Amino acid sequence: MEFNQNILGLQPSRSMTFMVKAKQLQAADPEVINLSGGEPDFDTPMPIREEAKRWLDAGYTHYTIGPGLPELRERIARKLREENGCGYKADDIIVTPGGKFAIYLAVRAAVNPGDEVMFLEPGWVSYPSIIEASGAVPVPVRLRFEDGFALTAEKLEQAVTPKTKMLIVNYPNNPTGRVLNRQEAAELEAFLLRHPDVLLLSDEMYERIVFSGYENVSPAAFASVADRVITVNGFSKSVAMTGWRIGYLAASGPLRAVIYKLFQHTVSCVSGFIMKAATVALDCTAEIEEMRKSYERRRDRFIGDLNAIEGVTCAYPEGAFYAWVKFDLPGMDAAQACEFILNEAKVVGVPGDAYGTDDCCVRFSFATEESELIKAAERIRTVMERVGKEG
Ligand code: GLU
Repeated sequence: MEFNQNILGLQPSRSMTFMVKAKQLQAADPEVINLSGGEPDFDTPMPIREEAKRWLDAGYTHYTIGPGLPELRERIARKLREENGCGYKADDIIVTPGGKFAIYLAVRAAVNPGDEVMFLEPGWVSYPSIIEASGAVPVPVRLRFEDGFALTAEKLEQAVTPKTKMLIVNYPNNPTGRVLNRQEAAELEAFLLRHPDVLLLSDEMYERIVFSGYENVSPAAFASVADRVITVNGFSKSVAMTGWRIGYLAASGPLRAVIYKLFQHTVSCVSGFIMKAATVALDCTAEIEEMRKSYERRRDRFIGDLNAIEGVTCAYPEGAFYAWVKFDLPGMDAAQACEFILNEAKVVGVPGDAYGTDDCCVRFSFATEESELIKAAERIRTVMERVGKEG
């Protein structure tokens, strides 16, 4: 039987694989520390849960046909205007079952077979797979550890061709923790102006998790290119709603219209009581800030502890909740280093090659209790000291 070649060729999602593996290892050995998946350890704030229960009890369980409840789309558009400086209207918003599906819809609706889609490396595991599944060709823009993963016009120009249909950027970045600063955003805008046929997909899923002293620019705030920008965001990371599966995209005019066609034929709509709950989520500012501060405290402690270890290097993330850690383990690549840390320190991360880098890096999530992070860093120190002595 002939299956779809684009799908057959996909690799499994490495973050999913490691999240499952870590759970299995923990079940067998409670000493295992799981820093693999990017999932807040906080429960969804109470006002959101109460709102869901209220609407569920009220029988709000039917189809909600359409791109999302008007009150939620109004609230999202207001958030994008007030917090991100973007000019989106409620009619530009489509509420989706998670941010990942919003990315899939946008890419699938925009590309034709053979089109090229640029994305940043290191980058989240699913971009190349979503591009391939859509029949397009993934083209990495390689950013370097040594340059602090700076995004430059030169890097973008090296990867663009007449076949380029879209560029995907993700800030705050998973896995590097970089935000999009003003200078990089200006370079991005200039790039889009030089290439008027290229669309930009800006994945801003971690946009509420930005640490003190930094700001993250939303490219749709640039009026000169806004009609070509698809902004993707959601509730999973910022409001600890991973399991609810609710995200959204914002795009204007014909771009939004073509995406909506595919939406209608695939999901129809998102659950009504979940959308009602998400409508109050954006007003949980105190809870969101409390979580953000907690990630910042954990970042300070965990990155500080890791950098104090000989043979371990990690820049302080500017946003999101990942440590992108480079190991000096001669003779080992990222997959071997990750396996070694797992076996010797009983700490599960995700190997750097999953994010398309040749560096000997492992990604650890610090959306985990501080006591576990302290223990993890301590065990990594013990292992690295032993390697140092043996080497
Ligand atoms: N986004 C999270 C991560 O990178 C969850 C898993 C996934 O979506 O790939 O770990």
